[in-house]
Amino acid sequence: MPQALPTFEDVLAAAARLEGVALKTPVLRSRTLDDRLQAQVFVKCENFQRMGAFKFRGGFNALAKLSDSERRAGVVAYSSGNHAQAVALSAKILQIPATIFMPHDAAPAKLAATQGYGAKVIAYDRYKEDANLLATELSLSKGLTFIPPFDHPDVLSGQGTAALELFNEVGALDALFVCLGGGGLLSGSALAAQALSPGCQIVGVEPAAGNDVQQSLRKGERVKIATPVTIADGAQTPMVGAITFEIIKALVHDIHTVTDEQLVQTMRFYAERMKMIVEPTGCLSLAAAFQASASIKGQKVGVIISGGNIDMARFSQLMSAYPSGD
Ligand SMILES: *Cc1c(COP(=O)(O)O)cnc(C)c1O
Repeated sequence: MPQALPTFEDVLAAAARLEGVALKTPVLRSRTLDDRLQAQVFVKCENFQRMGAFKFRGGFNALAKLSDSERRAGVVAYSSGNHAQAVALSAKILQIPATIFMPHDAAPAKLAATQGYGAKVIAYDRYKEDANLLATELSLSKGLTFIPPFDHPDVLSGQGTAALELFNEVGALDALFVCLGGGGLLSGSALAAQALSPGCQIVGVEPAAGNDVQQSLRKGERVKIATPVTIADGAQTPMVGAITFEIIKALVHDIHTVTDEQLVQTMRFYAERMKMIVEPTGCLSLAAAFQASASIKGQKVGVIISGGNIDMARFSQLMSAYPSGD
């Protein structure tokens, strides 16, 4: 790694930058959940974060660090949704022009929200085009600063502030389940856990349709897969980041996978039992905790909900596609 990896100090610095800008999201308990897992479960609700997902933390932290001339020139990003909204909202707050590449089949609610924040959106084909390349090329030709969705020290340090708040609020944990795409949220959470709860088992959770991080850890190097076909649209990453992978290798204990059906049953649980709307990707963490219930029995467990952006048409479509198992 040519560049020094970010540390817990960077997560603390990000928290200072986000003070008064990002929301301190609630940590919720549920009697039903504790009974079902026979554990004490603390749910960190980033579905209630500004723009509906934790990504605001990393996006704002990265943009807030730009120089005056970088701010004037503007930023470029790519995303299937939540990072797009995060950069667009942060750019609006900081008065920075933003251009965002979004897949042509992005969730309509996410597309509308990104445009609503005033960003210029350019459509691309996520199964055929390399968005990273498109964004890099535009940044070079127009002098824009590229803000990647996860593989960036300032982005992942910002994402780590959600777990920082969780540990500050509830103390050390035995286990922490974190939704995993490119690894920004997981690596940032791991930095916070290492400092504040060193004994905590950190588990990243990716969709079964695309277990590239699991494969990468087994192989000891990053494995690239075809864009996974899953309802977890926030975790359709073909490859983990270079920086995030170094941190995950060093600090994360295990990677679990869950199916689309498990995600929908978890969405149903959140809606019926905890009165919350959670997007499929945001359900990865609790779905894995349900699956691992035997090994977390009697423990103090953290679950990070990563986001809640889903429209009701899609929500009800998923509910009918996978009826309740009761
Ligand atoms: C981006 C995103 C993820 C994955 O985060 P990474 O930092 O890429 O691992 C998970 N859930 C939601 C809701 C997201 O928007």
